[in-house]
Amino acid sequence: MPIQLLGVPTDVNSSYRRGAATAPAAIRQAWRRYAEFGNAATESGLEIGSELTVVDLGDVAIREDGSDHAAILAAAGQAARVGPLLAVGGDHSVTFPLVEGLAAVHGPLNLLHFDAHPDLYHDYEGNPRSHASPFARIMERGLARRLVQVGVRTWNRHNREQAQRFGVEVVEWADFTPAAVPIPTGPLYVTIDLDAIDPAFAPGVSHPEPAGLSVRDIVAVIARIRTHVVGADVVELNPAHDTGDATAIVAVKLIKELMGAMARR
Ligand code: MN
Ligand code: MN
Repeated sequence: MPIQLLGVPTDVNSSYRRGAATAPAAIRQAWRRYAEFGNAATESGLEIGSELTVVDLGDVAIREDGSDHAAILAAAGQAARVGPLLAVGGDHSVTFPLVEGLAAVHGPLNLLHFDAHPDLYHDYEGNPRSHASPFARIMERGLARRLVQVGVRTWNRHNREQAQRFGVEVVEWADFTPAAVPIPTGPLYVTIDLDAIDPAFAPGVSHPEPAGLSVRDIVAVIARIRTHVVGADVVELNPAHDTGDATAIVAVKLIKELMGAMARR
């Protein structure tokens, strides 16, 4: 069963800096530069391209005219009927239609979410589709049964209340080790906002927040996944703020390990 790669090049719902729309192109370029020649193996030893087949579906056609949600949802639903989907944002607003499309095929998902931010705002500056709100939309529609959040370090009262309201399982920093993160059962969806990672490792994001996770922390959690991963996304790369290809390379690394987790089943 091939793993399907899908780009979702939009940043119209970003609240601060735009730029994430160029991320799919930057990640594909980094993949060609750093992963194709001998480095396409996952840490568990799976060789991407031979033992593990990847089909690049290209990018969703983004119009920014109100039709994008339906287009992303349709692309995700179509992919879900074939096999696992690995989506590349785009800002974090893309996770709502991606999860909605996958849930239409698999039923409600369980979510493992890495982020500096909880993204649970009812709306952000009046925009309910903001990249600060996807998990409010997902939870209020019952598209996910469990939501486990790792790396959040920007809690305010509203988001804490939302987390309580939706029964979000928060891994608090005082308790964090990679081994302590609960891994929900499948159908599992893993969503990685690159700002979960410390800006020292991943500077190319729109909302850098110091004191974050290391790349190794996230890889160590992914390595523990043994359940049915139906989808994943890596979002919020902002190439305009990257230092060389530093953050794009991190995105490629995480994509490889997510593919490895999808193939382990
Ligand atoms: Mn986010
Ligand atoms: Mn974030």
